[in-house]
Amino acid sequence: LVSQPLLDRLAAAVGVGQLLTAAADTAPYLTDWRGRYRGAALAVVRPASAGEVAAVLRACHEAAVPVVPQGGNTGLVGGATPGADGRAVVVSLARLSRIRDLDVANGTLTAEAGCTLAAVRAAAAAAGRLFPLSLAAEGSCTIGGNLATNAGGVQVLRYGNARALCLGIEVVLPDGRLWNGLRGLRKDNSGLDLKQLFIGAEGTLGIITAAVLRLVALPSARATAWLRVPSVAAAVDLLGRLQQRFPERVDSYELISQATLALTVAQVPGCSDPLPASTSDWIVLIELADGGDERQLAEALQSVLAEALADGLLVDAAVAASESQRRAFWHLRESAPEAEKRAGFSIKHDIALPLSAIADFVEVTSAQLAREYPGSRLVCFGHLGDGNLHYNLSHPDPDFLDRQDEVNRRVFSAVSARGGSIAAEHGVGQLRRLQLPAYRSETELALMRSVKQALDPRGLMNPGKLYPPAGGGA
Ligand SMILES: Cc1cc2nc3c(=O)[nH]c(=O)nc-3n(C[C@H](O)[C@H](O)[C@H](O)COP(=O)(O)OP(=O)(O)OC[C@H]3O[C@@H](n4cnc5c(N)ncnc54)[C@H](O)[C@@H]3O)c2cc1C
Repeated sequence: LVSQPLLDRLAAAVGVGQLLTAAADTAPYLTDWRGRYRGAALAVVRPASAGEVAAVLRACHEAAVPVVPQGGNTGLVGGATPGADGRAVVVSLARLSRIRDLDVANGTLTAEAGCTLAAVRAAAAAAGRLFPLSLAAEGSCTIGGNLATNAGGVQVLRYGNARALCLGIEVVLPDGRLWNGLRGLRKDNSGLDLKQLFIGAEGTLGIITAAVLRLVALPSARATAWLRVPSVAAAVDLLGRLQQRFPERVDSYELISQATLALTVAQVPGCSDPLPASTSDWIVLIELADGGDERQLAEALQSVLAEALADGLLVDAAVAASESQRRAFWHLRESAPEAEKRAGFSIKHDIALPLSAIADFVEVTSAQLAREYPGSRLVCFGHLGDGNLHYNLSHPDPDFLDRQDEVNRRVFSAVSARGGSIAAEHGVGQLRRLQLPAYRSETELALMRSVKQALDPRGLMNPGKLYPPAGGGA
């Protein structure tokens, strides 16, 4: 077999037990979280150190065999799933799971790429610090995957996305060279900031093996509220008011449509509507945090909410009175993707818009979609504070999915007309690759391809993801 010498080299690099080739062993690595993409692979390898990753990439490079990096496999755009041709080697980073260093004085933690986000947050908390990246998949997703996708989540509003939380990285380049860029510096203008090339590159330029992450103070007080608002416009106005009144203290500002809430309550055990007697089409989950007294923070929030109610920006509000109630509010919000998955078919969009344009987008586009697709249901939720919505359309008829391209075009042209993005936080992967040319300029695409060519001239890193084929289009 042509591939046998390569398999022997891979086994030598990672140990025979960490080279998987049997179908039963490789199956979990060959499909994505939603079960939407299925691929095939020559093998799955599970290295345990950066040195082993380097040996694997060197071997693949010399054999001209493509490589697909995989972390927790929670990505939502098919980026970690290999193609169907079975030529690639999947490199799982799950065993690179050591916290290498925690420097409290410098406010940094150095984690290997396969550490789950939850493990990193727990290690920071044990040292009295917060690693402020938080998303519903944090028990499974990994730091390497978070950086490769420049993940967002529910605290971007205050702390920025993964890119803003990373001070240095270690990367294995496509030819197997190891670059140690693990600097814990907040200032470093000694040339190009190379780590930024790999962050958000979706595993197409190299494999991230470790990162220096920025920690912040662990808040002593949180105030969390579940709000019924009359409209998206009111929700945006209310955010502006809260940010004025609580500067640098609004951690999260999440939007949930009534249809999403109803779906989540129906599909996910343990979910119930905190304000069952009130009605409105939109709900906001807000969380404030600071280093002061929890009761005072809750009272201050309550008083601003009372004014908002009087001014018509609010329909009703419940401020969490206990940690268990706070967790119940978050459980509801974070169960929305799971509820959608259980419910079946929907046409999804992960979009970003300027906050000033988002209410108009939702109002105009939702009315248009309701008119064009009778019987459809808008499952919209997301990080309103960041201008980022998961704007999904579901329909009881599975044939509705056949109209995906048409629905995408309607939504994306409305997004694009308002200066928005068609891939806000989940990335491009396989899902949006062919649509990119319609929404990024020729010059931007040419620059992206030049970077790819410079770092991966043989095109072996995660092929078929992110970069549209030259001359191709939606
Ligand atoms: C329930 C749920 C909720 C989610 N919520 C959010 C959210 O709020 N915000 C958000 O941004 N995303 C969210 N996601 C998407 C997903 O969790 C993120 O994209 C996450 O960052 C992926 O991490 P992962 O380790 O699972 O990566 P994977 O899915 O394994 O890989 C994702 C991409 O990164 C590449 N990659 C993985 N590891 C490496 C590495 N070490 N080096 C180089 N490339 C690598 C892969 O090749 C692939 O292209 C959610 C997903 C689920 C299932």
